[in-house]
Amino acid sequence: MSLNPEPKASHYINGEYVEDSDGTPIDLVYPATGEIVGRVHAATPAIVERALAAADAARRGWAAMSGTERGRVLRRAADIMRERNRELSELETMDTGKPLSETLVADATSAADALEYFGGLAGSLTGEHVRLPGGDFAYTIREPLGLCVGIGAWNYPTQIAAWKGAPALACGNTMVFKPSETTPLCALKVAEILTEAGVPPGVYNVVQGMGEVGAALVSDPRVAKVSLTGSVPTGRKVYAMAAQGMKHATMELGGKSPLVIFEDADLDIAVSSAILGNFYSTGQVCSNGTRVFVQEGIVDAFCDRMVERMGRAVIGDPMDEATTIGPMVSARQLDIVEGYIRKGIEEGAELVAGGRRLNRPGFWIEPTLFRNVTDDMTIAREEIFGPVLSVLNFRTEDEALKRANATEFGLAAGVVTRDLSRAHRMVAGFEAGTCYINTFNNAPVEAPFGGMKMSGVGRENSRAAIEHYSQPKSVYVAMAPAEAPF
Ligand code: NAD
Repeated sequence: MSLNPEPKASHYINGEYVEDSDGTPIDLVYPATGEIVGRVHAATPAIVERALAAADAARRGWAAMSGTERGRVLRRAADIMRERNRELSELETMDTGKPLSETLVADATSAADALEYFGGLAGSLTGEHVRLPGGDFAYTIREPLGLCVGIGAWNYPTQIAAWKGAPALACGNTMVFKPSETTPLCALKVAEILTEAGVPPGVYNVVQGMGEVGAALVSDPRVAKVSLTGSVPTGRKVYAMAAQGMKHATMELGGKSPLVIFEDADLDIAVSSAILGNFYSTGQVCSNGTRVFVQEGIVDAFCDRMVERMGRAVIGDPMDEATTIGPMVSARQLDIVEGYIRKGIEEGAELVAGGRRLNRPGFWIEPTLFRNVTDDMTIAREEIFGPVLSVLNFRTEDEALKRANATEFGLAAGVVTRDLSRAHRMVAGFEAGTCYINTFNNAPVEAPFGGMKMSGVGRENSRAAIEHYSQPKSVYVAMAPAEAPF
């Protein structure tokens, strides 16, 4: 292993690495081998306080800079990220086990896109002028919210750190970010690069830790906003904590998204969409289209083509660029996925391909295809967060739409068809925040990303994110003398 992933220290506060070895140790485990490759420490209360105090102190200075200046710094950070893409991608692979063939194009690059996009917007963020009767007028000032907390999941550690940090900083906020304890490394690099680009000390800080560190951050009265990427149960807790302090909240949570494939679909596009929606990042993607509804007439053809294409997957060393499927992120996640596969078999789904743990060190499982899955089965109802694709048969468009929406989640939904009208009818009916026609799982920074129903509140990316990291202040200006009733 050429790369030494161990960071200089566990936390990044006020523009520098900080250690406090009194914190609970967190082992860094390389998912491809199961080896412990280093260690960080969870934040102690003293570290949490130091980070919050630094972010609070940096607030006014950062907000007072012009948007153009802030944007220039963020765009510089984007350039540095792109220059260091290979090193950052290797680190992302160490952190998550995702193959380099993915991390080279989907992680630091996506983070750089966010920094560039929001850096570009920063100078254009203004209020508005409102004409009122009698020559009076109002104007609005778009103000930052203040100190924001970001909390990340483990599947896209670089991307999540930047998807939250870039819009927050563009709007003039400061941030304390807590990565998932499973993937502590990449956010530290984002912080380091922001400093190198010229972000002042204290504006973007990173602390490590489990849920209790997240909870300590969210419940602090200095914090104005929390943005969480995580599971629905965590989302419930964090949203409730935010409500106690009347804080702004963005919740990017889990899903059980449908992908509906009609008989007229191009079979290869259908299979490609299903692969993108189930096996990318070894299935550890929140928006995955894991309920694949296939119209009756093409179920056999679809499954045959799927099996053939799955046979071409290259499962192996994630650092080898030819590899297309890496391990699960952790032993725990592997156990969860295996448990669901067992349940699928017990409840009567037909295992068509995969389903077995690989006999090698690390956390490996084969991409798995089930057919004859019904809506009531556990694997069709619960988020698995692993490479498990379920095929459910359907007859009519109405039926497909009803069953697609019959879930508490609403993150994403997709349709594959050659019939344009039907594609748009389906999209209009989907109860999901992010929809796809003839593809799945793209998440460009220019388009809003987020969920409906239990999948979350708020949106990341695009101009929509600006609304979630700033607030208008209305100023009423009277042109005539004020008239009071007495
Ligand atoms: P998780 O909910 O276990 O943890 C998410 C983060 O919340 C971690 O950093 C964790 O330490 C922290 N946390 C846990 N309890 C907390 C508490 N009480 N207070 C504050 N913070 C707390 O999720 P995970 O296992 O890391 O990630 C997988 C989940 O994330 C899946 O459900 C997946 O769908 C979801 N996810 C959603 C998106 C999205 O954009 N919608 C993206 C990626 C992952």
